[in-house]
Amino acid sequence: MEILVLWDHSAPQGLQLPFTRALSGVLGLEVRVVDNSIPVNGYVGARRQVDAGQTLDSLDIYRHRSGISSPVLLVVSRDLFCKGQEFVFGLARPDVGVAILSTFRLENEYYGLPHDDDALLDRMVKEAAHEIGHLVSLHHCLEEECIMHNPLTLEDLDRKRRHFCSLCEEKLNSGKFR
Ligand SMILES: [Zn+2]
Ligand SMILES: [Zn+2]
Repeated sequence: MEILVLWDHSAPQGLQLPFTRALSGVLGLEVRVVDNSIPVNGYVGARRQVDAGQTLDSLDIYRHRSGISSPVLLVVSRDLFCKGQEFVFGLARPDVGVAILSTFRLENEYYGLPHDDDALLDRMVKEAAHEIGHLVSLHHCLEEECIMHNPLTLEDLDRKRRHFCSLCEEKLNSGKFR
């Protein structure tokens, strides 16, 4: 099984290669990154945010029309929200195999701190592995250091390690090749 990552032109450039390597290492799966060609729609002017659900609708249609069988993750830089939540780092729709992640709140700059590529990359890899975990039917985990722990803040995300706890790892391995 391969994971296809669509990298939007707005997303941080130059990180594709280290991202691919790190994510592939965490998941134990092939990861392929290509330039994104679908429009990131669902922008809500009043919130200055993108409705992640709407973007996933387009991604679902794109994946279906293109006959892609791999799970697909879209990486964008726009701030995301979904119904009932002020913001989300990312969102997955496991029934159709599509997910999205935003770098907006993963950047130090958002919190008034100096730019740090390593911190950004680390957060992106954890958040990507989390959403892909959902795509292979993993649920949220109570173990704070596990990739599948639901991060509500940047501190939560930074506390996590780049690994799945033994229980989630087991589920990941059984979900991977279905
Ligand atoms: Zn989650
Ligand atoms: Zn876990």
